[in-house]
Amino acid sequence: MSSWNSDVDLSGKNSLGFKVTAERYLQVDSIESLRIALYEVEQNNWPLLILGGGSNLVLKDYLPGAVISVATQGVHVLVDNESEAIVEVGAGENWHGFVGQLLQMGLHGLENLALIPGNVGAAPVQNIGAYGVELADCFHSLTAYDRKSGELVQLSKEQCQFGYRDSIFKSKEPGRYIIWQVRFSLSSVFQPNLSYKGLQEYLSSIGVREPNAHDVYKAVCEIRQSKLPTPSEIGNAGSFFENPVVPEAEYHRIKQDYPSLVAYPDRESHYKLAAGWLIDQAGWKGHCSGSVGVYDKQALVLVNHGGGSCTELLDLAKEIQDSVLDKFGVSLQMEPRVYPV
Ligand SMILES: Cc1cc2nc3c(=O)[nH]c(=O)nc-3n(C[C@H](O)[C@H](O)[C@H](O)COP(=O)(O)OP(=O)(O)OC[C@H]3O[C@@H](n4cnc5c(N)ncnc54)[C@H](O)[C@@H]3O)c2cc1C
Repeated sequence: MSSWNSDVDLSGKNSLGFKVTAERYLQVDSIESLRIALYEVEQNNWPLLILGGGSNLVLKDYLPGAVISVATQGVHVLVDNESEAIVEVGAGENWHGFVGQLLQMGLHGLENLALIPGNVGAAPVQNIGAYGVELADCFHSLTAYDRKSGELVQLSKEQCQFGYRDSIFKSKEPGRYIIWQVRFSLSSVFQPNLSYKGLQEYLSSIGVREPNAHDVYKAVCEIRQSKLPTPSEIGNAGSFFENPVVPEAEYHRIKQDYPSLVAYPDRESHYKLAAGWLIDQAGWKGHCSGSVGVYDKQALVLVNHGGGSCTELLDLAKEIQDSVLDKFGVSLQMEPRVYPV
């Protein structure tokens, strides 16, 4: 039998800062304890949430069933030669802490993903991305517990089926795998990725022409801190909507009516529209609706000013989706997962 904790307050474990109670909560740090806990979950038919840092979830007031948090720790270099270093990291490690540790170790590739909240185990779920880099760029493989077979399995990059804010864990097989350890393929030679214009401009503005890894890491942290609210100060879940990807013809249609449209070429004959721009143009930036609202420095971020609830936030999100659809004919999809559905 596992030592589940009952009626656990998760207010400090979701970045929106909602008051949430879990019927049962357990932190696991060994496969044996995970197996036992899952056996009980299955025997009792409890709904199950795997919780990381709670920074990509919109949680309702009460979570019936079970919540399990994976606490696997450790960063280990498996291979280190001139061409490549493979590093394995526990799913329970803090993502930003891991990125900082790699920087100290002189292993490169993830600098642009600094300061993203949450744990390593959740990072592959939506293939986290920022400033021109996504997790898939440096991903090697992972170890996960497969609830279907009851076995630990190794999944390659191809098997994870990464896409824009997507993977097998998010859309194709949600709930099947519990990520335990993740391996990254990194390099001891630093090659800056400055494909994101804002990052390059920021570095130029502070007089850095040939940035090293520390410069990029620091610049990413500084830009993020100036644009995004810190969850411990203002509750939020980062970008609340995905940037919609539309066919070229639709992009031209909108661009004709709104020449200042912010968009980037995406996969063949498609454009990725800046959701923040669409929301801003629809007049939502800085809007308050009771205790929740739209962040005044970045319209893509919905916030809880304190005392807000999931229902209030989802009502606001729906109003925003309707107004963007009405104005631009574009449908916005929520990025964080709502639980329970
Ligand atoms: C201020 C702020 C900025 C952000 N910026 C970015 C950004 O730039 N780019 C970006 O991509 N995201 C961003 N995010 C979103 C979020 O930080 C990431 O998606 C992060 O990876 C979520 O990690 P977490 O541990 O908090 O996951 P959680 O929110 O706890 O969980 C997210 C999902 O992953 C599942 N999950 C968690 N752990 C595991 C596991 N071990 N095995 C299987 N499934 C698991 C959960 O069940 C859930 O479905 C931001 C969020 C905030 C609050």
